[in-house]
Amino acid sequence: MSSPDLLIVGSGLFGLTIAERAVAEHGARVTIIDRRSHVGGNAYSEADEQTGIEVHKYGAHLFHTSNERVWEYVNRFTEFTGYQHKVYTTHQGVVYPMPINLGTINQFFSAAHTPGEARALIAEQAGEFAGKDPENLNDKGISLIGRPLYEAFIKNYTGKQWQTDPKDLPASIISRLPVRYTYDNRYFNDTHEGLPKQGYTAWLERMADHPNIEVKLDTDYFDTSQPLNRDAVRGELPVVYTGPMDRYFDFELGELSWRTIDLETEHLEVGDFQGTSVMNYADAETPYTRIIEPRHFHPERDYPTDRTVIQREFSRFAESGDEPYYPINSSSDRERVLAYRELADAEPRTLFGGRLGTYQYLDMHMAIGAALSMADNKLPDLLRA
Ligand code: FAD
Ligand code: UDP
Repeated sequence: MSSPDLLIVGSGLFGLTIAERAVAEHGARVTIIDRRSHVGGNAYSEADEQTGIEVHKYGAHLFHTSNERVWEYVNRFTEFTGYQHKVYTTHQGVVYPMPINLGTINQFFSAAHTPGEARALIAEQAGEFAGKDPENLNDKGISLIGRPLYEAFIKNYTGKQWQTDPKDLPASIISRLPVRYTYDNRYFNDTHEGLPKQGYTAWLERMADHPNIEVKLDTDYFDTSQPLNRDAVRGELPVVYTGPMDRYFDFELGELSWRTIDLETEHLEVGDFQGTSVMNYADAETPYTRIIEPRHFHPERDYPTDRTVIQREFSRFAESGDEPYYPINSSSDRERVLAYRELADAEPRTLFGGRLGTYQYLDMHMAIGAALSMADNKLPDLLRA
C-alpha cells in the first residue's frame, strides 16, 4: 500500500473533521487510525442489546452550539432532533431543577420571590464575595449563588466529581453552569441544540464515508508492530495527532492528571425509572454523581414501554490504563502543558489537536470549531511540506 497524504491519529470529532476537510478541500488521501474498535471517540453510542435504547458508551453527550459555522457544518452529516437538555438534582430527598434558577431558589427557601427579591437575597448570602470575580471554584460558587445554595447543590457534588478541594479548582468549571433569575431551566444557553436523529454513530461514520478515507481500527500509534507507528512515520508523513500529548512524548516531562468516570449499567423492568434523562445527586452520602436514563434523550422513538436501562455515573482520578476524560488543570498540570506545547511546536510535520492532544476541556462543538480553524490555517502548509 502506498503512504497516505495525511495520517490522522484518533477518529474522534477533531480527527474526523480534519479528515473530511483534507479530502474535500485538498483532495488528499487520508488514513485515520484509532486504537479503539469503533470510530467517533467519546461521542460514540450504540444500541443497548436488551432494549434497543441508544446508550452513550462513554457518558452522556448533548450537542449544543452558538457557533453558526459549526452548526451549518454538522448539519451536512446529520439532522438534529429538537431535544432540549434539562437536569434535575436530588438534595436530602427532594428534587430541584438545575442549573440554579428562580424555581430552585424559591423551592429551596419555600418562598415566592420575584427576580429582584431573589437577586437581593443571593447578593446578601454571597457575603464577602458578592459582586467579586474570584479565581477558585469555592469562592466563585459562593459569589454566584450565595453560601446556602452553594453548600446544598455545589459543594458535595463537586467534591464527588473532582475529589479535590473546590478552593484548588479553577473558577471556570463552575462558570460553565448558568444561574438564572427566571424559571428557565434549560441546561444550555446556546442558540442551537439537539441530538442526532439517527444517533451519534450514523453521524460520525458519515463523516468518514469517502473513498479517499481509510479507517484502521484497533490500531495504536505507539504499537511498533503496525506500519504507521510514531517511530516509523515521525518527520516522514504529515500527521494530525489527537491522542494524549504526554503519551506522545513518552511522558518525558511527567504525566498530566485527568479525571475519569465509571458507568454502572442496570436494566430495569419498568418503562420509566426517573422521568427524565439526567438526575444529579447533590449529597455526599450518595456515592454516584448522577443517573442517566438514555431513553429520555429520544422521546420521539418507539422504545419498549416495559423495560429501561440506566447508567450510574461515578467519578475518580484516572490511573494509567483508564480513559482520560476531564483535564484536572492543577497548577502543576498547567506548567507541564506549556512545556509539552513547546515540544509539540517543534515536532516535525505533526500537528496536535483535540481534547487529549491539547489537554483542554472541549465540548463537541469546540472540538469541531478548533478542527475547522486548523484546516483553514495550518493544514495547507502541513500537506505541502
Ligand atoms: P476524543 O473523542 O477523545 O477522540 C480521540 C480519539 O483518539 C479516541 O477515539 C482515541 O481512541 C484515539 N486515540 C488516542 N490515543 C491513540 C493512539 N495512541 N493511537 C490511536 N488512537 C488513539 N461534549 C459536548 O459537546 N456535550 C456533552 O454533553 C459532552 N459530554 C461529555 C461527557 C464525557 C464523559 C466526556 C469524556 C466528554 C464529553 N463531551 C461532551 C466532550 C466530547 O466528548 C469531546 O468534545 C469530543 O469527544 C472531542 O473529540 P476529540 O476528537 O478531541 O477526542
Ligand atoms: N456542578 C455541581 N452540581 C451540579 C451540577 C454541576 O456542583 O448539580 C458543578 C460541578 O463542579 C461540575 C460543574 O458544576 O463539574 C460544571 O457542570 P457540568 O454539568 O458542565 O459538568 P461536567 O460533568 O460537564 O463537568
